[in-house]
Amino acid sequence: MKPIKRTIPNVIRLMQDAVGDNDRIGYYENIMVTMYATVLLVVAALMNFLVRYFILTLNFQDSIIDSLIFFLIGIAFFIVVKINIKIKLMTLLISGLSLITSVYISIRFYDIIGPAIWTVAFIQISLALIRITKTMLYALELAVLIAFVHIFMRTINSPTFDLDIIYYVVQSVLFIVLCIVFVAVHKIGTDRYYGIEKQYNDVLKKNAEIKILNNNLVNSEQKVKNLAYHDQLTGLPNRYFLANKLSNDIFSSIKNQEIFGILYLDLDDFKMINDTMGHDSGDQVLIQVSKRLVSAMGKNDTVARIGGDEFIILISDCEEIDNINNIAEKILNNFKKPFKINCQDCFLTTSLGLAVYPADGEDAETLIKNADIAMYKAKNKGKNQYMRCLSEMKKNVDDTMKITNGLYQALERNEFELYYQPQVCSATEEIVGLEALIRWHHPEWGMVLPTTFIHIAEQTSLICSIGAWVLRTACTQNKAWQDAGLPKLRIGVNLSPREFYNDNLVDDVKRILKKSGLDHQYLELEITESAAMNEQEHMIDILNTFKAMGIHIAIDDFGTDYASFNYLKQLPIDRIKIPMTFVQGLHTSIKDEAIIKAIIIMAKNMGLKTIAEGVETKNQLDFLNQRMCDEIQGFYYYKPMPANEIEKLLKDFGQAKEISKEVQ
Ligand code: C2E
Ligand code: MG
Ligand code: MG
Repeated sequence: MKPIKRTIPNVIRLMQDAVGDNDRIGYYENIMVTMYATVLLVVAALMNFLVRYFILTLNFQDSIIDSLIFFLIGIAFFIVVKINIKIKLMTLLISGLSLITSVYISIRFYDIIGPAIWTVAFIQISLALIRITKTMLYALELAVLIAFVHIFMRTINSPTFDLDIIYYVVQSVLFIVLCIVFVAVHKIGTDRYYGIEKQYNDVLKKNAEIKILNNNLVNSEQKVKNLAYHDQLTGLPNRYFLANKLSNDIFSSIKNQEIFGILYLDLDDFKMINDTMGHDSGDQVLIQVSKRLVSAMGKNDTVARIGGDEFIILISDCEEIDNINNIAEKILNNFKKPFKINCQDCFLTTSLGLAVYPADGEDAETLIKNADIAMYKAKNKGKNQYMRCLSEMKKNVDDTMKITNGLYQALERNEFELYYQPQVCSATEEIVGLEALIRWHHPEWGMVLPTTFIHIAEQTSLICSIGAWVLRTACTQNKAWQDAGLPKLRIGVNLSPREFYNDNLVDDVKRILKKSGLDHQYLELEITESAAMNEQEHMIDILNTFKAMGIHIAIDDFGTDYASFNYLKQLPIDRIKIPMTFVQGLHTSIKDEAIIKAIIIMAKNMGLKTIAEGVETKNQLDFLNQRMCDEIQGFYYYKPMPANEIEKLLKDFGQAKEISKEVQ
């Protein structure tokens, strides 16, 4: 404790300020006690000497000896608070000195200054009231008791009954009363004190509890933070952590004009491990991969797991792009060592996409997206390699995104239209069918052809809504033409492979046909080989249902995909469509000619009809006619046309037919 100004008002003020701090209060109380005691003892020493030497005229030695003892005890009190000891020890020493003083005065000076004991007792009581410590109280009680015993002994031993005895008795009674009062005061004082102390201790306890709660809260908060920002399986940072880190890195890169890179990593064929070895083994692989990645990277780099088998590595310290390439190379090499799963060596590869800030994206989302695109390209190119995100890739993805967004609104905004391309009978040159081909009139881009958007629609469930619209429009239109007296023609509608995953396909077709009122025989559904390849059992069932309903089935672009004869054998097909790619090779490629010849012969032998697509020249037509191809669809005869033009064409065609009948 630092030295203080030792005046009573100051010490009292300091004590008031120190409420709640037991140690400081104890210290100030000790100072108060010693101030009393020192002054009292020094005055007592002086008075003792003066009375003995000058009034009782004792010799110097007898007069000084007690004064010296008083003085020394007074000094001892003073020293106790000056030396640097623990407050408890200080209190104990002060109590000890009080005891010595009380006992000494009670016994030694009773004859000379009998009433002084009273003074001492009262002073001690007042001290006790100020400094209500248990030690001090016990010391005082003992002192009073010894004084009382001393008086009592003297009273008993007195040879004669004189006034002194009455005096002693009165004093003894007073001492007893004093003791009772003292104990009562003590009780009140201690009760008050201990009441406060109890309250104070309760507050301390509550405080400690709050501290524990607070610590628990901080710990839980930390745990929640950890859970929110870390992956449970590998302990690596997760995508939220990464997003924060990326934003910070972008901020400091802007400030320091630096570049940094990210690597998007996806394990090749990880699904196979899960499927063949079980998910626990898959988890083991992920844990080992994370460890390997972390150990391969620098301490400033961040390896995060952002999904199943996908990781992102943030390379903070890279001065040039080559460094990132080297790191990607290093990671690929790192995967050459086998992973140990259930004591078995397991070889694994990974594909990496690389994006560099700021060239490949100026915000976290774009950077990750572009690295992801590059990673997919690396996978498509054969896996186990890395690729940097090229601007062309970014453009493709952006275009796809724009088209997807546009498609979502196209149906609502009525932006689709059906064009119809006539199909002509080779022998009679009459129109025998129409193929419905979708067109998209985009408000900004103008007319968009199906080759641009159908494969994108196929990646979402949009293709089912579009397919249903096409079927509905084509059937309704065909029926309307028939009702208008135009020739009854078959209408071909393309079915996307994706539509076969729609459980309601058969019901939808039935419902549309019913609603349009079109006779089933005038509908032909065109399917591609890829559709025929997947889920063949399910597919065959659906096609058989269509067939049983009287709907025609054509296999579109035959031979461009898988061309499995086995499926051809099983599928209930009516017509094979010879693709434009072969037709356009006629007279230039003997291979294309050979293929077309083979398809026609095979179809004839299987009892199937053939129709050649993309016929543009007389030569092509002649070749196909010579080979007995049943029907022709191509610009040589007609291009795909909007409904009104087809209507006009069909009217002319109907009239021409009438005229030729009349001529005959
Ligand atoms: P596809 O079913 O094989 O349709 C024939 C495509 O060849 C049509 O292209 C047609 O315009 C084109 N074509 C026909 N004759 C000639 C010709 O002599 N020369 C040239 N250069 N082209 C010719 P389109 O309309 O662009 O359709 C392309 C593909 O988009 C279609 O191939 C079909 O697979 C798909 N598609 C079109 N409409 C739909 C639809 O409503 N639903 C689905 N799922 N796919 C559709
Ligand atoms: Mg088609
Ligand atoms: Mg085709």
